[in-house]
Amino acid sequence: MNDIQPILDRALAGHRLTAADCAALLESDDIARIGVAADEVRKRKHPSGVVTYIIDRNINYTNVCNVVCTFCAFYRRPGKPDTYVRTVEEICEKIDETIALGGTGILMQGGLHPDFGIEWYEDLLRTLHAKYPRMQLHSFSPPEIHNIHLISGLSYEEIMTRLKDAGLSSLPGGGGEILDDEVRKRVSTKCTTDEWLDVMRATHRTGLRSTATMMFGIGDRLEHRVRHLERIRALQDETGGFTAFIPWTFQRENTALGRRIKDEPTGVDYLKMVAVSRLFLDNIEHIQSSWLTQGLRLGQVVLRFGADDMGSIMIEENVVSAAGAHNEADERMLRYLIRTAGFTPQQRDILYNHINRDESNTADASDSATLRELSVAFAD
Ligand code: SF4
Repeated sequence: MNDIQPILDRALAGHRLTAADCAALLESDDIARIGVAADEVRKRKHPSGVVTYIIDRNINYTNVCNVVCTFCAFYRRPGKPDTYVRTVEEICEKIDETIALGGTGILMQGGLHPDFGIEWYEDLLRTLHAKYPRMQLHSFSPPEIHNIHLISGLSYEEIMTRLKDAGLSSLPGGGGEILDDEVRKRVSTKCTTDEWLDVMRATHRTGLRSTATMMFGIGDRLEHRVRHLERIRALQDETGGFTAFIPWTFQRENTALGRRIKDEPTGVDYLKMVAVSRLFLDNIEHIQSSWLTQGLRLGQVVLRFGADDMGSIMIEENVVSAAGAHNEADERMLRYLIRTAGFTPQQRDILYNHINRDESNTADASDSATLRELSVAFAD
C-alpha cells in the first residue's frame, strides 16, 4: 500500500493536491490519518470551533418528472394517478410552519415538469418573495434550470437573471450525483456534466451563490469520484460561487438501480470521502455533514473528518426518505450532537451568516434531563 503521509504533509503545508494524490487517498484504508489531517485543515479554516446548522424546509412543489433516473424513488411520470403539484396556499402553509420554528429559508425542488416554463417559476418566486421578503428562497437545482432552458428556449444566464430578479436567493447543488458522463448516462437521462457545470457558471455570473453536491455509489469507480472533485474545484477557481460541498451515498430502497447494484458505500467510504473533500477542495469554505442519509451517529462523527456544518433540521424531506433514509432531528438534537462532538453550535442562514435567536439558546440542550432525553433518542 502506498504511504499517504507525504500527501497529507503537502496538504497540511498548504499545497494543492493533485488528482493522483486524491486517488491515492481514496484508495487508502488509513482513514484515521486522513481524518486527522482533514480535521486539522478544518480547524485552520474555522478556528473558532463553531459548527453551523440551518433551520429551513424542503418543499417539493411537484413529483411530476419527464426524465428517468434509475436511482430515484421520488418521481412519477406525467399523467400517473399519484402525481401532485403543490398549490401556492399549500407552500405558504409550509413556510408559515418553518417560520414558527425559527426558519430562515426554504429549499424548493421538484421533478422536471414538462409544462413549467420560466413564467411558472417567476410567478411562484414573486408571490413568495412579496409575502415573505425575509425568507431566503434557496431553490431549483441545475436539472430544473436545464428543463426551463429546454421549455422556454432561454440561455442559462437569462434564466438565472430572471429568477434572481423574481426573488431567488441561491441555487442548491442537487442533481450533481457524479459529474462524469460515463456514469451519468448509465443512470439518468437528465442534464449532462457540462450542462450541470454551465448552469452553475451562469448562476455564479449573475452574482447568486450555490452549493455543490455529490452522490456516490451509483456504479461509479474511484476515478469518477476524483474527476467529480476536480471539476468542482476547477469551477470554484473560475467563479468562487460555491458556498459548500455536500457529499452523500446513494440510498437504494425502492429504486431500480438499488435492485441492480451489488456494492454500496460503507460508513468508512463516507468518512473518507468527506475527509478527502476537505483536503482536495482547498477553495471551498464549508463541507456539510449529511446526517439525513448517514444517520445521526455518522453524521456527528464526520464533524471530526473535516465537516464544519450539520446542514438542516429537515422539517420535511420526501426525496431521500422515499429511497429509505428515515433519519430525523430537531434543533435541540443537532445542537446536542454538535456540542458533544466538541464544537459550539451556531444557527446560520443559507449564505452562512450567523443567526442569533433567543429561542435557539434556550433550545440548546444544557440541563441533564434534556440531555438524557436526547441521549435516549440518539441511542434509538
Ligand atoms: S432525481 Fe430528479 S430528475 Fe431524476 S427522476 Fe428524480 S425527480 Fe426526476
